[in-house]
Amino acid sequence: MATIFSRIVAGEIPCHKVAEDEEFFAFLDINPVAVGHTLVIPKAEVDYLFDIDDPKLGRMMAFAKRVARAQEAAIPCKRVGVAVMGLEVPHAHIHLLPIAKESDMNFFGKKLSLSQEELAEIACRIREKFE
Ligand code: 5GP
Repeated sequence: MATIFSRIVAGEIPCHKVAEDEEFFAFLDINPVAVGHTLVIPKAEVDYLFDIDDPKLGRMMAFAKRVARAQEAAIPCKRVGVAVMGLEVPHAHIHLLPIAKESDMNFFGKKLSLSQEELAEIACRIREKFE
């Protein structure tokens, strides 16, 4: 069965898309830990990030870097934090979080409460800066 992220890529489930190319897709996390919290995934399903072959993993990081540059330009932050866990959704993903301090990377606290309109506006701002 397709993962929820494959269904997002296929357009079967809505998301706030940030960027895409032939191989990778970036969209806002549904339960953001930080404003602009984005997930970067390979379009082709693979569960574990480190099962991706080296050349593709390199391309994925280069794509994530472009997303991070767009986040830096669109969201006030000191830098973009990176996290990989992958215990909830079995489809490899890199979390990219615009942060000002270490405690902004708190995955275990209360999530942000943002409306669909706010999420759409944030995604639009990042999308506009994506090169
Ligand atoms: P992890 O697998 O890295 O522990 O966490 C999975 C992440 O995917 C979580 O931050 C969760 O909020 C996000 N997530 C789970 N389901 C969906 C979904 O349907 N849409 C979006 N945009 N994000 C999701």
